[in-house]
Amino acid sequence: MDNSRERTQLGMNQPIARRDFLNGMALAIGAPLAFASDVAPASGAVTEAEYPPLRTGLRGNYPAAVEDFQALRQGQFASAVVPASEIRETYDLVIVGGGISGLAAAYFYRQALGPDVKILILDNHDDFGGHAKRNEFQYQGKTLIGFGGTMDIATPYPYSYTAKMLIRDLGIEVERYQEFINRDLEAKYGLGSATFFDKEHFGEDRLVAGNPRQKDFFDRAPLTDAARRDLVRLHGKNPDYMASLSAEEKKARLAKMSYQDFLLNVAKVSPDALPFFLGSGGRNNKRVDTVPALEAAQHGSVGFNGMHLDLEEQFVEGSYFFHFPDGNATIARLLVNRLTPGAIPDTEKGPQTMHTIVQAPVAYDKLDDPGGSVRIRLSSTAVRVAHDGAPETAKSVTVTYRQGGKMQAVRGRNVVLACYNMLIPSLVPDLPAAQKEALRYGQKVPLIYTKVLLKRWTAFQELKVARIGAPCGYYQSLRLDPATTLGGYHGVTTPEEPILLHLTRNPNKPGLPRKEQNKLGQQELLSTSFEEFEWQTRRQLAQMLAGTRFDPAADIAAITVNRWPFGYAYTYDTLGDPDVPQEERPHVLGRKRFGSIAIANSDAGAAAFTNQAIDEAQRAVLELLIHQGLC
Ligand SMILES: Cc1cc2nc3c(=O)[nH]c(=O)nc-3n(C[C@H](O)[C@H](O)[C@H](O)COP(=O)(O)OP(=O)(O)OC[C@H]3O[C@@H](n4cnc5c(N)ncnc54)[C@H](O)[C@@H]3O)c2cc1C
Repeated sequence: MDNSRERTQLGMNQPIARRDFLNGMALAIGAPLAFASDVAPASGAVTEAEYPPLRTGLRGNYPAAVEDFQALRQGQFASAVVPASEIRETYDLVIVGGGISGLAAAYFYRQALGPDVKILILDNHDDFGGHAKRNEFQYQGKTLIGFGGTMDIATPYPYSYTAKMLIRDLGIEVERYQEFINRDLEAKYGLGSATFFDKEHFGEDRLVAGNPRQKDFFDRAPLTDAARRDLVRLHGKNPDYMASLSAEEKKARLAKMSYQDFLLNVAKVSPDALPFFLGSGGRNNKRVDTVPALEAAQHGSVGFNGMHLDLEEQFVEGSYFFHFPDGNATIARLLVNRLTPGAIPDTEKGPQTMHTIVQAPVAYDKLDDPGGSVRIRLSSTAVRVAHDGAPETAKSVTVTYRQGGKMQAVRGRNVVLACYNMLIPSLVPDLPAAQKEALRYGQKVPLIYTKVLLKRWTAFQELKVARIGAPCGYYQSLRLDPATTLGGYHGVTTPEEPILLHLTRNPNKPGLPRKEQNKLGQQELLSTSFEEFEWQTRRQLAQMLAGTRFDPAADIAAITVNRWPFGYAYTYDTLGDPDVPQEERPHVLGRKRFGSIAIANSDAGAAAFTNQAIDEAQRAVLELLIHQGLC
């Protein structure tokens, strides 16, 4: 098929809500935008120019938000100076980073010192929340809410007392989640999961419904006899592949080999079976070649059930769980309500709750209100943070930032850097060299969360699937949005209704060390155009849903690609990182207070979870309070 015909069939020429915010920036804010009529905002409704969650196209770490990062890392702002006469604002605390950690730091600081302290939060994006980002779509007068990043209150280790108290203070009743799950969809239509085997790796495109542990699952998959035999064995009862060793010896060996090495060299699985494992691995986007086999065993991967490993009891992850329609962007919104009620006002009965916040309007133009004690200044990239004097005795810190291409500066008596560890050495040129080195150690994990607004989901009804794993696909997974029904917002109930699809890509480069894979994946995301993302999205959907009534040219109403080149915090593993005591870990050495500057963010906890972002915020604030002799 010639390329232009395929492009037409996939709908690359369709007027959907996407190119208007090409590369994350409005082509012309205020000018008429080329919307398809169905996705146009109703007249009088809030528009994407004033309300960033409505912006479609390339989002997440969109290009304009990170355009200064390279120059920053190259040291080009190391001596940036704004004349003292032009620095007119002084705050008790300046926070760099408006993610959950930065917002929580503001919350804790006020909690300690009272509501009159003056706080400024700077963030380089046009929206607050950092990874906890809300995507909204309007279609035929209905608003669909999705999560562009942080999906759930969920964690592999328990929330600390501090994090639980914050969640409770914000009015989130985690224990009530069961009341709000949108059960209609899967139960009513008998939807389950499926795996997509692609032609390039498995010889033909085929969607196989069901669970790989089901008896006939692999019989229906396009596999060689050897691969089928070994996959059936692995998903059944396995022998003890290391029978001559004690449990401790087995664990020590498994900690030092990848899951791929275990499969190929210990379980003696045919290399033909390996592609089936390429799309999954471990936490933090580790893949089959980068996840230690022991970690794979701890997470329930197949192959270990005959090995008597005596694994320690793991914390039951689902025991503290909540999913809002916009994911943990709700936490960010609740924090903003508490910090800047001018932007998200209280309800008649008091502060916003987990119910009222879901559809609460946000006045973005009130976030940076000169009259507010907390101000949130968006689209502002901090480029230099320096004490006004010797770090331990200076009375203030100057924070220089770029907004709209212009250099500005403010002063803070204290500063919390709730941004990315990798940038801090360039932001604070005066940091000790060893601390800089420690901060540069990790390599953030890249990933993409794409949202596709489908006009109807009858194709999924036909296939009886709600979730598809694609081990070798451009996207490794896809799911119908679960859309919690809460606060007057209703999850989808019939296949004729529009729905959001959630697609995930982890741009790994198999065969390389994990950090190298993260780095190359990051570069890939930074250099891929929206058009390429759109093409890949449409093509994979067409392949996976082939044989149904799905028409990519007619059924897609909007696409938002949340690219996160600066995604998850780096976490350690037993393959690539030295085994050193916790206090010698780079994130611990890197997060040391430096004069009046403290370091928060989930990077500082080497764990990519909301609770870590909160805990690090509290630690950073405490360090500053102690430094000032206030506690
Ligand atoms: C796609 C995705 C899904 C996730 N899902 C979950 C989940 O389901 N549950 C969970 O618990 N965790 C999840 N996480 C982990 C998530 O990172 C944490 O939960 C948490 O939100 C991190 O918050 P943070 O404030 O530490 O960092 P961030 O959210 O990264 O916030 C830091 C902010 O600082 C800004 N910044 C950086 N440099 C500068 C600068 N120079 N000037 C100004 N601003 C700057 C950044 O742009 C960002 O807005 C997910 C992460 C990603 C990327």
